[in-house]
Amino acid sequence: MSGKLSSTSVRPRTHPAIALVAAETSSVTALCRSVNGTRFASAEQLIASGFPADGIVLSGAEVAETQQWLRSLRCHSRLGLSLILLSSPSGAEGEALSNGLAGSQESILERAAAVRQRWDSLERPEPLDGDDQLLTFLYLHPDYRLEPIADWRDERVYRYPLADLYSREREDGFTLLTRLRQRGLLEPVKLVERLHTCPDCTSAHILFNERCPQCASIDITEQNFLHCYACGNVSSQESYLSRGALVCPKCSVQLRHIGVDYDRALETLTCNECSARFTEPDVKARCARCQSQCATDALVARRFDSLRLSSAGVHAARSGSTGDLFALIDDMSQAHPAYFTQTLDWLLALSRRHRDVHFAVLALRFSNLKALAAQVPRRRVAQMLDGLAYRLRELVRSTDLFMRDDDELCWLLLPQTPAPGLAVLQRRIEALGPASAGSDGSSIELAIATITSAELSDTAPNASMLMARLRSALA
Ligand SMILES: [Zn+2]
Ligand SMILES: [Zn+2]
Ligand SMILES: [Zn+2]
Repeated sequence: MSGKLSSTSVRPRTHPAIALVAAETSSVTALCRSVNGTRFASAEQLIASGFPADGIVLSGAEVAETQQWLRSLRCHSRLGLSLILLSSPSGAEGEALSNGLAGSQESILERAAAVRQRWDSLERPEPLDGDDQLLTFLYLHPDYRLEPIADWRDERVYRYPLADLYSREREDGFTLLTRLRQRGLLEPVKLVERLHTCPDCTSAHILFNERCPQCASIDITEQNFLHCYACGNVSSQESYLSRGALVCPKCSVQLRHIGVDYDRALETLTCNECSARFTEPDVKARCARCQSQCATDALVARRFDSLRLSSAGVHAARSGSTGDLFALIDDMSQAHPAYFTQTLDWLLALSRRHRDVHFAVLALRFSNLKALAAQVPRRRVAQMLDGLAYRLRELVRSTDLFMRDDDELCWLLLPQTPAPGLAVLQRRIEALGPASAGSDGSSIELAIATITSAELSDTAPNASMLMARLRSALA
């Protein structure tokens, strides 16, 4: 079927705009001409020019320069999302921050056009912050994988360079990716490494040392011990050596045949401090960063996966909505409201009978959510709540009960928590409000009311009355 195509079905087919960033002209002249590109001497020059590049080819004089250009460009809100190709390999960091090596002239143009087409399919405004920038980037470049790269200078030993660039203040790329994974927006493709990390500070720089199981000295050495069959003596091989032969230092029998006159003792380690002999040393792990020490089984295993957008992530990136406001908070809210009040009633009864049972209840209200939702975009509110939930999750112990009542109120039931412990927790939770502030200054306001079992009189109310009392304290 022929006929005239309507004007809406045909977009003016323009050539993708290609920027070539090269310190030296000679290296890219031919390429520049073949892709009809515009040349810039540095990434800064390209950024300053405002050139609307669909694709960028980098040709730094050395690897460090290329990597520096990549970081500057990726931090830029628009150019950071474009296709960036390298004229030559530029290390693991270069690979992680770019879209790979520039191939033929056709493939450069084809790939740049594909990214622009995906850009046009976005049903949303420009990305607002790092989370958004990363999701949009992954949507525009569906073949890109977030790969962890090994870096011994990093405290986690593995890091995600692109996510590091987009992470918020006081967090790194790992934390950013964990948050997006918990929201179901990213999914693992392949496990790259599993490391054991410090339970106190999450550093992966762990030192292992072997100690005497008796006195904990690290001064232990390996030695051969012989066991004399005639008298049962066990001592070091040296103590049996006498004029080139083996003679028992205790009963003076000459040891000729192993298995007949003597054998080797199982213990091969000895402590130079307390002379203990043993087969297995005690192994302790010490964190090189915070110096805390623990048993090896107390270390926390951490996975480093290569990641991509999940289907929920694709939807979130395209529409700009990151789903339910309370997704992350509900993820940690294990308690059904009925179960929560039942447990509180039970603890009330228990604490009345046993003086050593203490508990505390904390009510937490997001007091300005409605006002915030009217001022800033909903996904901005969702991101603020996410960040808050992520930090809140770290403050809640596995023995605490967490329950979300409605869109404003959350409850925490804290068993065996006396007043000083509660005061510390309350201060930490209060600090989460100001910490949720974005660059526009808006933040989530928190109101908190608490009570400990010690503050209750003997005629203590039941759970619902206690909760009503806290609720009115918040109003
Ligand atoms: Zn010892
Ligand atoms: Zn002997
Ligand atoms: Zn540590």
